[in-house]
Amino acid sequence: MPDPFSESIDLESIATQVGTPFFLFSAEVLRRRIAAVKKVMPGGDVQARYAMKACSTRRLLEEVREAGLWIDAVSGNEVLRACRAGFVGGHQPPAILYTADVFRDNAIEVILSTGVLPNIGSEAMIEQLVEAGYDGPIGIRVNPGFGHGHVRECDTGGPSSKHGVWHESLEVARRAADAAAMPVTLLHTHIGSGPQIEEFNQNMARLVDFFGALIPDYPDLEAINLGGGIPHPYQPDAPPVDLAPLGKVIADAQSQLSERAGRAIRIEIEPGRYIVAPSAVLVTRVHDIKSTSENDRGPGHKFVMVDAGFTDLVRPAMYGSYHHITLHGASASAPTEPLVVAGPLCESGDVFTRDARDFLEPRQLPTPQRGDLLVLHDAGAYTAQMSSYYNSLGRAPQVWADGDRLHLVTRREGLEDIVANECFEQLQA
Ligand SMILES: *Cc1c(COP(=O)(O)O)cnc(C)c1O
Repeated sequence: MPDPFSESIDLESIATQVGTPFFLFSAEVLRRRIAAVKKVMPGGDVQARYAMKACSTRRLLEEVREAGLWIDAVSGNEVLRACRAGFVGGHQPPAILYTADVFRDNAIEVILSTGVLPNIGSEAMIEQLVEAGYDGPIGIRVNPGFGHGHVRECDTGGPSSKHGVWHESLEVARRAADAAAMPVTLLHTHIGSGPQIEEFNQNMARLVDFFGALIPDYPDLEAINLGGGIPHPYQPDAPPVDLAPLGKVIADAQSQLSERAGRAIRIEIEPGRYIVAPSAVLVTRVHDIKSTSENDRGPGHKFVMVDAGFTDLVRPAMYGSYHHITLHGASASAPTEPLVVAGPLCESGDVFTRDARDFLEPRQLPTPQRGDLLVLHDAGAYTAQMSSYYNSLGRAPQVWADGDRLHLVTRREGLEDIVANECFEQLQA
């Protein structure tokens, strides 16, 4: 499979126009991933939602909508962003799902105004919906007591996870919904992000049994949502993920659970990472190469200083995650040596070559020249959306490549964006 990021796109030309760093999205790669998901979840009784928190840029959401995927949103503003991208609220069909454990900001207001299905993660949320005058259907997110994840922070099931209604408390939540005359049309879980695919498939089968046992208690149930979490292999030599076994688990689940219910039950999944991780790269400029040498505090290192930092891509700093790195242009074929790739932020941890155990994990890379472009791969999921204004740097722009057409889809932020919320408003003492 040709890599559209290295084959046909002139990164230098984009850098001249929008500066560095920038995110570059490939519509082609995104479409390939969407097609892979649709092959096992074609719609109808087996429906995929896109977990938009992974990347919620409007242009990308429009692409997802045109492909017929639905949305899982985790805040009121995400629901509104989905609507701006053309998704429609309401319950017929419930194309946007609101899933969260806390109603923050405008969440309830947005649920009322758009008619999206609230998928609640605690009993208190039922009370809050009642207080707000909501009397429609709800979903319940369950913590089934087990989970999986590529790191502890991404394991969202089991006793150490804050998410959802603990399975032993589900009966209490169900009674509260009954008392509020809110039909429970969806049972949901999302137990984690990015485990190995074998573990993922096993847990999906386990969840099908778990939900199967609950079906008789939920006469209004229309759908069971098994969450996201399909892994994406970030290591370039890792085998691609085969979704066929998952497709079989889902198809079997759909027929078994429907039979058990005596009516058609829709099975949903809601991948985020799998759909967008490979569809973008983060392109950054090499500003210098400098070295330290060994002393009694530790070994010396050679640092490649780039202009992207953890404000653009936080996964290595936060989870010790691996992102494949390549050099663009003439230096790509230079001899390799162990290098630490580091950003501009005033933190020693602003480093892209690290792992979960060691602080620094020098990477065998071709020695760059000052001015080269360096590419961080698989930067589509949990990157731009996790950006911050730390060090008063604006968020990097996003460029959308579709065939030979390039569009800027988010512009680079500057001082005015960063200070836009500063004020001096008097409050009551
Ligand atoms: C984050 C999240 C997902 C997506 O997880 P991925 O690992 O990106 O597939 C799905 N559902 C919910 C409720 C989430 O919070």
